[in-house]
Amino acid sequence: MRGEFSLIERFLSFFPRARVPVGPGDDCAVLAPTRGALCVTTDAVVENVHFTREAFSAEDIGHKALAVNLSDLAAMGSTPRWFVCALALPKDFPERELRGLARGMSALAREHRIALVGGNFTSAHELSITITAAGELQGPALTRSGGRPGHLLYMSGELGDARLGLIHLQSGKRRSPAILRQRRPIPRVALGRLASRFASAGMDISDGLAQDLGHLCEASGVGAEVELAHLPLSPAVRVALGAERALAGGEDYELLLAIPPERAKAFERACARAGQRVTRIGRLTRGRRRVLRDPEGRLVTPPPGFDHFTRGRPVD
Ligand SMILES: [Mg+2]
Repeated sequence: MRGEFSLIERFLSFFPRARVPVGPGDDCAVLAPTRGALCVTTDAVVENVHFTREAFSAEDIGHKALAVNLSDLAAMGSTPRWFVCALALPKDFPERELRGLARGMSALAREHRIALVGGNFTSAHELSITITAAGELQGPALTRSGGRPGHLLYMSGELGDARLGLIHLQSGKRRSPAILRQRRPIPRVALGRLASRFASAGMDISDGLAQDLGHLCEASGVGAEVELAHLPLSPAVRVALGAERALAGGEDYELLLAIPPERAKAFERACARAGQRVTRIGRLTRGRRRVLRDPEGRLVTPPPGFDHFTRGRPVD
């Protein structure tokens, strides 16, 4: 691509120099893990699939591209360390926008002390950013498969705001707290590390709680019971979506955790001390059924849409 080297240099100038044996500029980066094992993940954000350039600023796009990867590192209980970034840019992509991408990405990278150690530019019809990120583990990884019947289900933050933000954007709104959650998801890195000391299973909620809980249940070989009345919903989501539609909304990037009951009190205390908001939303059960309990405590059967929430990420 024309001017690739100067583009790379200008992009890199927004990031602190990586303290690694070999950083950007050689054929590979060379990394020196300090302890334990590495978690590695990759995820892309693509124009007109995950964002539009009308509804998202360049800073938002840069932030979100890194945030979705940090969320996966958080979900494993790892400490973010390094990432590489492949940018596909339209030919007429303005330099000002490129600086915006770098600003949004580097602000989040500094916050989580993750170093950009390499990357690539290519030209394309639409903007996309693909990031591969690595984190270090201090203990065992927090996987999806360790949940057992009786373990309690918790989630961080609130549910459904990113979905509501998408609806607001589609209806022409440009400002609401929900839109901010759609544009600037917050990866729960500190909570992931904390939870790895208590949880039997965990994952991040990227495709909606209903679908992602299904993934955790399948990996753990268990069922689940979720209390509709316990779902943490913002007042705006409660009014505009309600609990059942909030369950299907994607892109919240909160953490879903299974905690053995004997560790639940200590987990809640540790979260309170660390200023991490978590809510108990249900429990894992024997068998494979995933059901909802209504506010009166009755099982909602057949669970309206619960086992059928497979529509995936809303892109409409
Ligand atoms: Mg994930």
